[in-house]
Amino acid sequence: MASQEIEALAGALARLPGLGPRSARRAVLWLVKRRETALVQLAEALEVMRRSLVECATCGNVDTVTPCAICSDPRRDPRQLCVVEEVSDLWALDRAHLFTGRYHVLGGRLSALDGVRPEDLSIGSLLERVSAGEVEEVVLAMNATLEGQTTAHYLAERLEGLPVRITQLAHGLPVGGELDYLDEGTLAQALRARRPVL
Ligand SMILES: [Zn+2]
Repeated sequence: MASQEIEALAGALARLPGLGPRSARRAVLWLVKRRETALVQLAEALEVMRRSLVECATCGNVDTVTPCAICSDPRRDPRQLCVVEEVSDLWALDRAHLFTGRYHVLGGRLSALDGVRPEDLSIGSLLERVSAGEVEEVVLAMNATLEGQTTAHYLAERLEGLPVRITQLAHGLPVGGELDYLDEGTLAQALRARRPVL
């Protein structure tokens, strides 16, 4: 039986996504063995995060400064704006280093089931950013779920009439995917999104 403090740390870690009580206890033991090195680094990194995390007032990203590093990067193309549901989506897209424009985080997706309405998302600030005139293309990068697609459709309607091109991520075959193993929904999307070869 460990002390209350150790149990408290294990309990806090167990609430992290992807960790359960067993892996949390293993992580605590691992840290206890490295209390002069890894534990110090972790404690310092957590303290820095606690002190300095802010939400970017422009795009909704989470960073230690606002505007965030992406919004204030002059190498980013201000003519392209990629709209995502969550900060995690922004990070996933940006890790791929494929998109060189800027982002807008909605903070969720429309959902009748969860009672998420348009006014609960950062749609007003998105329309303001697009209306400001610099943006030429809005990329709707919602998840390929029913709610994600409902949100994309709603945004496309709200953006209609503004002088921007509205595009959407393609849905279809995953890289390395074999037709045989795909579900019908993915296959149908891939077929609908087919394009000329030459
Ligand atoms: Zn930002």
